[in-house]
Amino acid sequence: MTAKPINFVILGASGDLAARLLLPGLGTLLATNGERQMRVIGVARSEKSDAEWQDLIRSVLGEQECGHEALEQVATDSRWRQVEDYSGEEIVTILKDLDGPSVLYFALPPEATGEVCADLCGLELPDDLVLALEKPFGHDLEGAQRLNALLAQLVPEERVFRVDHFLGKNTVLNVLGVRFANLLLESAWTADRIERIEIIADETLALEGRAGYYDTAGALIDMVQSHLLLVMCLVTMEEPARIATPELPDLMMHTLRSTQLWGDDPVASSRRARYTAGEVEGKQVPAYIEEDGVDPDRQTETLAEVTLEIRNQRWAGVPITLRSGKALAENRSTIEVHFRPMRHLPEGLEGGCPVNVLTIGMTPQHIGLSLATNTDTDRLRLTTTHLGAELGESPLRPYGEILGRIFDRDHLLSVRGDVAEECWRVLEPVIEAWRADRVPLEEYAAGSAGEQSPPR
Ligand code: NDP
Repeated sequence: MTAKPINFVILGASGDLAARLLLPGLGTLLATNGERQMRVIGVARSEKSDAEWQDLIRSVLGEQECGHEALEQVATDSRWRQVEDYSGEEIVTILKDLDGPSVLYFALPPEATGEVCADLCGLELPDDLVLALEKPFGHDLEGAQRLNALLAQLVPEERVFRVDHFLGKNTVLNVLGVRFANLLLESAWTADRIERIEIIADETLALEGRAGYYDTAGALIDMVQSHLLLVMCLVTMEEPARIATPELPDLMMHTLRSTQLWGDDPVASSRRARYTAGEVEGKQVPAYIEEDGVDPDRQTETLAEVTLEIRNQRWAGVPITLRSGKALAENRSTIEVHFRPMRHLPEGLEGGCPVNVLTIGMTPQHIGLSLATNTDTDRLRLTTTHLGAELGESPLRPYGEILGRIFDRDHLLSVRGDVAEECWRVLEPVIEAWRADRVPLEEYAAGSAGEQSPPR
């Protein structure tokens, strides 16, 4: 007996996420596994005909070369459903019309996701319905707790998938192999050997018309609160017995519970800034506050930096800086592990001792290690030599990886509810300090390096 096609129902299908990330990700999934049977049901208030939606799917999936037959089947079976206001009743009616298992994907701004979940409470949902929710999960700790409580009323936790697509990047998963399969590194992976860690996600992209969501979130909530904190967990957590659930979320939780702001000081441990007009990659970019839909009074930051400390035997005393900015000079998405300098050098070696830095590039996938070596002209003078390798691109985009696991009901790359809440707990004092204007909102020119903080 062949399995029924999965109904991939996207709420907010008219938005940026669906067109730019979800559908192309799905295309890569179908390209690597053409056997998957599904239809994509786009749901939004915006008007679209089935034919327009099918054409969009054809064109987006087609770019991923997922094979004509698989693509045509998905496209012709797909439908557009216009709603008035995403009421629970409208959504249940759409779901009940569908044959086969459904994944209801909330590609909505977080407030709208909360409202829809509240409205679905008390309604009869199809058996076996899977819910997939985008980050940010809620808008603060209390909001995340409320959302988790609502979800628990809708479906059992094993049918809830909280999505953070950074966990679908093979570069991020690469951290596990690099750490736990290299004796050389794992034996040096402690505060005794490591001086500081930086996890950076800088991008050249400016707002690109996303004010509706971004202006109420900002860089801290959009990037640091979920993406970079989860990456930090993989970089710093204890060794799992197996790469599986519940080991990974348990160890992430263990790490997050020990995580505090550097010096317990939300003001000194954080920095926020927003871009002014400038030039990025040869293109003029207006100041953030001049962008369409931005309310300057919200004081939304486009660059956020926070330094944390994990207070356990392995990491106490090691500053871990998470930083992300928009409209910067270069795309730089890396994990940098800075080792301590040698305590002693033999007399006669000159030039100071360069420290070892391990760099794991998240985009593009790259690994590098800087080592001290002698120079080619002077055998007793030290210099830094960089070893590096490009690791190639995965055929699956992060959203392809994530969607495949949701369709297979595998939680490995899903964010567990308590982990989502704990991420908010870590940053809550910073959010409060910024709201109370206790941290100045600096400025940087679009296309600049965004003024790096000196290392702690
Ligand atoms: P958009 O601002 O593009 O919103 C998506 C759609 O939601 C809109 O097209 C709109 O469709 C609908 N919508 C429903 N209620 C509201 C409301 N109250 N305000 C505004 N729109 C509403 O968001 P994105 O697609 O960019 O993001 C959706 C989610 O995905 C967010 O939670 C975001 O954090 C997450 N995400 C986005 C990424 C991205 O790069 N875009 C990356 C990673 C995560 P309509 O009016 O037609 O109903």
